Amino acid sequence: MSLDLQSLRAQFPILSQQVDGKPLVYLDNAATTQKPQAVIDAIVSFYTQCNANVHRGAHHLSDEATRRYEKARDSVARFINASAREEVIWTSGTTEAINLVANGLAFQLKQGDEVMVTEMEHHANLVTWQQACLKSGATLKVVPIHDSGELDMNAFDNLLSANTRLVAIPHVSNALGTVNPIQSLTAKAKQHGALVLIDGAQGIAHGNVDVQSIGCDFYAFSGHKLFGPTGIGVLWGKQSVLQDWPVWQVGGEMISDVTYQSATWGVLPNRLEAGTPNIAGAIGLGAAVDWFTALDMPAVQAHEQQLLQSATEQAEALEGLRIIGTAPNKVGVLSFLLADAHPADVGFILDRQGVAIRTGDNCAQPLMKRFGIPGTARASFSIYNTLEEVDMLFSALKKAKMMLA
Ligand code: PMP
Repeated sequence: MSLDLQSLRAQFPILSQQVDGKPLVYLDNAATTQKPQAVIDAIVSFYTQCNANVHRGAHHLSDEATRRYEKARDSVARFINASAREEVIWTSGTTEAINLVANGLAFQLKQGDEVMVTEMEHHANLVTWQQACLKSGATLKVVPIHDSGELDMNAFDNLLSANTRLVAIPHVSNALGTVNPIQSLTAKAKQHGALVLIDGAQGIAHGNVDVQSIGCDFYAFSGHKLFGPTGIGVLWGKQSVLQDWPVWQVGGEMISDVTYQSATWGVLPNRLEAGTPNIAGAIGLGAAVDWFTALDMPAVQAHEQQLLQSATEQAEALEGLRIIGTAPNKVGVLSFLLADAHPADVGFILDRQGVAIRTGDNCAQPLMKRFGIPGTARASFSIYNTLEEVDMLFSALKKAKMMLA
């Protein structure tokens, strides 16, 4: 099997549209990916054929909704190689998944404890731990990065100690594209007895995530960055850790026995999933995972690297362009500054030419400050992008450069 780009693109109805009379060149995939017809169909089919609440099955529709909803959990469990389906907890996204872990850890953290994050965090994996530390008296340790955007491994080693309760690190940086060596970082953290959470928001769509071989305790990701819908995500956690994790939201679905005075909690996964879930979202994410899994993964990865390589070469050849994030191990993310132009102006001019990129602080303000810049322009590639689109990005950038000079 290899990647048939034409038929792959044809599965994404949104890609065939025009913006201002120009073909859409969608290069904002790190913000959110587009959805294949298979995902759209799964959502439409749920609402047209079996919309009902789940786990309340006194009737056919509810049984069918429950079957599809739980089948989606099986797909996700297989996809990330969870050792049990109960380890897959539905959340609204990465942010909520990290908050779920932080809420539980808040019961354990105390003065003298340390939580480790990195300089390249998205706010979702920074502010959460910053606030948890502020509330508990624990100390937040921030692992520095090199100018290339790679983690400073010596600093990581030196910051780890017997006081480290949690190491919370991104699989892949949304702002720089850096792929972190999460397996070896996890192994080191484990030697000190720390829990490990991987922010997989950007990592999940770029390859084979095997939570058991990573060795972490938690892996969090969002459906919408993996060709699935918004409003649905996953917290994967080791059963041994999650089964005693403090419940964070209480209400229907997650209880075992309730009196007016007290309540006891159900078992995983329900004990961490209070209330009516995002049923259509979970089914849509299950369809996305099934769709993605059927692709030839080495071909997908090779294609993405080809796009990145072409973009990087053209960026290096464009005078005045400065790449932010030059680690050797990157996914298809190209963050840059164009001479003295404000990234927002660059984004605006590109948009007029049909090219969609992200501009701004990439939800990583401290990281931007670390580089002494207000933000970046960021082109991020997905499996449906073409080399011609990379060329279109650069001809649009050359125009922007002339207009802004
Ligand atoms: N972490 C990283 C690295 C991200 O890129 C994002 C999304 N930009 C998040 C966390 C948060 O994801 P969400 O907004 O889907 O919860």
